[in-house]
Amino acid sequence: MAATNRPLANRILIGLVLGSVAGLATLLLGRTSPGALEFMRQVSTQVLDPVGQVFLRMLFFVVIPLVFASLAAGVVQLGRLDKLGPLAGRTFTLFFLNMSIGVALGLIMMNLLQPGGRLEPAAKERLLQEFGGAAQKHIANSATTPQMNLATLVEMFMPKNLFGAVVGHTNTTLGDVLPLILFAILVGAVGTQLAEEKRRKLQETLELVSELMTGIVHFALRLAPYAVPAMIYSVIVKIGVDILLALGVFALGCIAVLLLHLFGTMSLWLKFWTDRRPRDFFRDIRAVLITAFSTSSSNATLPAALDCARETLRFRPSVAGFVLPLGTTMNMSGTALYEGCVVLFVAQVFGIELSVAQQITLLLLAVLSAVAVAGIPGASLPLIAGLLATFNVPPEGIGIVLGVDRLLDMVRTMTNVGSDIVTTAVVDAQETRAEARAARR
Ligand code: ASP
Repeated sequence: MAATNRPLANRILIGLVLGSVAGLATLLLGRTSPGALEFMRQVSTQVLDPVGQVFLRMLFFVVIPLVFASLAAGVVQLGRLDKLGPLAGRTFTLFFLNMSIGVALGLIMMNLLQPGGRLEPAAKERLLQEFGGAAQKHIANSATTPQMNLATLVEMFMPKNLFGAVVGHTNTTLGDVLPLILFAILVGAVGTQLAEEKRRKLQETLELVSELMTGIVHFALRLAPYAVPAMIYSVIVKIGVDILLALGVFALGCIAVLLLHLFGTMSLWLKFWTDRRPRDFFRDIRAVLITAFSTSSSNATLPAALDCARETLRFRPSVAGFVLPLGTTMNMSGTALYEGCVVLFVAQVFGIELSVAQQITLLLLAVLSAVAVAGIPGASLPLIAGLLATFNVPPEGIGIVLGVDRLLDMVRTMTNVGSDIVTTAVVDAQETRAEARAARR
């Protein structure tokens, strides 16, 4: 967000607070008059959800052209193909590190808190009954989610029909972004080989598309101060007090560790690997974090993240254009952390003990499966069902957490997106150092 847009970030934040307070007040009111709460739930579904969707869909509109244009432009801007390898190497190493630290923190927290042991058996039965049906859907989807191996990896990046995959299978699903990323890198890489004049023309054209899409993002963000309170209000009134109380320890534990990773681990990265002050940095990206929180979608937040990276944080366009689209789809540290937490929690509820060796395996599997999670709301649920089955924990157990999943999705998406931007800052700083070293030689 440009510096001139600062008041907009504040207005979005105020909206978030107002929506949350109103939601909690409505829940309290519901204790004495359940009819009023039911009415407000209807209002949320009929009126507030569509308002939120206008904002969300406008961001979705620009994802595909923006990912293509900014990534291809990022690679063309490198100017030389031999710079691509080191950039990709640094980026993937940081992604892996980031997600592994996230899962490790989550597992430590769940081992310390033991929230599964604290869940009343009656509450467990009630949650399983209430959400058992919804859980089945995710279990069925987990069966169609292929295991992570080389063939799956090739399939994920190189489907037979590139445009078919990118367009999406129906008009209710978003297209696959990974194949588009590979295609954009290829276009950019070949672009660097063109004669200088043609290369410049290609770069300008891609930048023009990117600028147009960014204009739409600015427009969407103007709706955010209204859409954000509508979305958060709707989520809160639909969760209900009982579920919050029953799953309180687990939910608070997850939120605490997600925030610790976002503001703790990532601050250390900023401090030691860049010359940016964590406080200023997080203040600069607050509108992006709120967008992630309220949309629960890394993909929908990517346009705002790219805009902030270029205009406010002033990263190299080639680094921002490369790392952010990749990070949005692959660097899911909040999701990986959450996957580990849920598996351990549900195992505890069912009295299944996971040994240290099993938990280390869980860490690796959580990282791998998080890479396969799409940046859309609730996308990790089928993979979590699959992970539960891998550790011989009943996959129906996912039903226990479904009641609070939407809320935790908001926080984990914020962690996903925040750590993408921090990773971009680190790669940007590393590039600066590499260039300085090369200049000295
Ligand atoms: N909603 C998350 C995201 O978009 C993915 C997930 O964990 O379900 O980043």
